[in-house]
Amino acid sequence: MLVYHLPGTFETREAHLDLLWEAGATGLEERAGLIRAYFDEETELPEAIRDGEWRQEADQDWLAEFKANLRPVQAGRVTIVPPWLRAEIPAGQVGLVIEPGMAFGTGHHATTRMAVEALSDLNLDGQTILDVGTGSGVLAIAGALLGAGYALGVDIDPITIPIAEENARDNAVPEGRTAFMVGTLGDDLPGDVVADGVFDVLVANLYAELHDLLVGVYVGHLRPGGPLILTGILTGKLPLVQDALDREGFTDVQVSTDGEWALVTARA
Ligand code: SAM
Repeated sequence: MLVYHLPGTFETREAHLDLLWEAGATGLEERAGLIRAYFDEETELPEAIRDGEWRQEADQDWLAEFKANLRPVQAGRVTIVPPWLRAEIPAGQVGLVIEPGMAFGTGHHATTRMAVEALSDLNLDGQTILDVGTGSGVLAIAGALLGAGYALGVDIDPITIPIAEENARDNAVPEGRTAFMVGTLGDDLPGDVVADGVFDVLVANLYAELHDLLVGVYVGHLRPGGPLILTGILTGKLPLVQDALDREGFTDVQVSTDGEWALVTARA
């Protein structure tokens, strides 16, 4: 990797930044009093920016670095790990293996962790779960591993579905215990297991404004008394979700938070 080190900052060398771009820089970065300009090859630079120095630096593999820093995530009775950390699942914990990739849901985001924790607080034996915005499938798969009879994950992003299916296979979830489909609430859900579209548990890691819109739809997909688990909510937006739950007659509304993120549970 070829980097041109130019003394100064973006502020002090503002007038020279265009010269770097014009000379063919592919990226600029400011670090410790230096402007680092990335180039594919050494080029003749204009006089005004010749006070720097060309350096050949070792390539940095950001993905490898990200992967090397991943640690197991404990969420209640479940420990979520990438495939290469399977051996670190503590005895007695339910291991959930998720390959970090294109779909949201490695367990490292507070909302995913809180949602898995909320699922692990329930007795899911034989229950049916609807996971709205399934991403990597992490919540549906957690539900199946915690004993649910059937967990259906839906997501509007088609890229997520094969990823969620592969994650279910990697966790040896028995055939038929999870299913994933492109779509959202309001679409026809597959009726082979849950014919009336009414589930025992509904979990959704989306965002506050969407929960506000969908709470009326959630009611129709949840058996009376069934637990609703909602996250992806910034704490500042909690009132929006709480008001929507009140409006639709949900009871036993409880909130937990982790930093700026909140999770709300309620009963239909
Ligand atoms: N469930 C995973 C988790 O808890 O880590 C992923 C949650 S991720 C924050 C939200 C997911 O919801 C994304 O995969 C996105 O494509 C999906 N999504 C957004 N709007 C949706 C909608 N209206 N219906 C279904 N899925 C939606």
